[in-house]
Amino acid sequence: MGRTLDSLLARNIEWVRKKTQSDPRFFARMAAQQKPNYLWIGCSDSRVTANDVLELEPGQVFVHRNIANVVHTSDLNILSVLEFAVEHLQVQHIIVCGHYGCGGIERVFAPERGELFDHWLQPVSMFYRKHRAIFDALPPRQRLDRMCEVNIEMQVRRLAATPIVENAWIRGQELHLHGWIYTIGSGLLRDIGPHVSSVAERDLLPSIDLCVQQDTGSRSSSEGEQRSLFEALTEQN
Ligand SMILES: [Zn+2]
Repeated sequence: MGRTLDSLLARNIEWVRKKTQSDPRFFARMAAQQKPNYLWIGCSDSRVTANDVLELEPGQVFVHRNIANVVHTSDLNILSVLEFAVEHLQVQHIIVCGHYGCGGIERVFAPERGELFDHWLQPVSMFYRKHRAIFDALPPRQRLDRMCEVNIEMQVRRLAATPIVENAWIRGQELHLHGWIYTIGSGLLRDIGPHVSSVAERDLLPSIDLCVQQDTGSRSSSEGEQRSLFEALTEQN
C-alpha cells in the first residue's frame, strides 16, 4: 500500500454506487437533514459500531465513542455531543453501550498506572479498587464481565447526574437513559439497565456500591436467555 489510501477511496465509490442503485434519493435525503432519535455512547472498540449492530441507516443514530464508554463530566467532547443531542436534535433515548471483554476495562485490573488512558479510566479503576475483594473473588473471565456491566451502570448514573440531562427532565422533555451490553462473539445486545427517565427515578436508584455488594454474579451467565430469543426470532423468519 502506498502513501494514499486509494483502495479505501475506491470502496467509497463502490458504496455510493450501490447505495444510489438501491435508493436513488438516499444522498439527497441525507443532505436535507439528520433526525436521529437515539444518542449512542459506546466504546471505541472497532468491532462495536452502532449503526451496524442496530441495523440503522446513516441519520438514525447520533454517536459518541471513547475508550470504555466513560462519561466524564469534565470532557468537553462528550458534553458538547450530549448537549447537541438533547437540546437541538431532541433525541428521546440515550444508550450507554459497553461490551464484554472490553480491553479498556481490563486495564483497570493492571497493577501499573501512568499511561494517559489510566487517567481516563480513573473513576472505573477507583471503583474496582474500592470493591476489590468482591471482584477478585470471581474467576478472571467473570471478573472482567462483571466489571464491564458495572461500568455501564456507573456511566448511566453519571449521565443522569449531568445538568444537561437533568434540565431536560425538568423542562418536561421526554428522555430515557438505557444501559446495554454487547457480546462481540455473538453479535447480540442485551438491556441490563438501569433505565432512568426522570430526576425522581434517578434519585431513587440505590447506591452503586450497594448494587455491587448485593449482586456479585455476572449477567453474562444469563446469555442463554438472549440466545434463545435470537433462536426464536430466527425460526420465525
Ligand atoms: Zn471496549
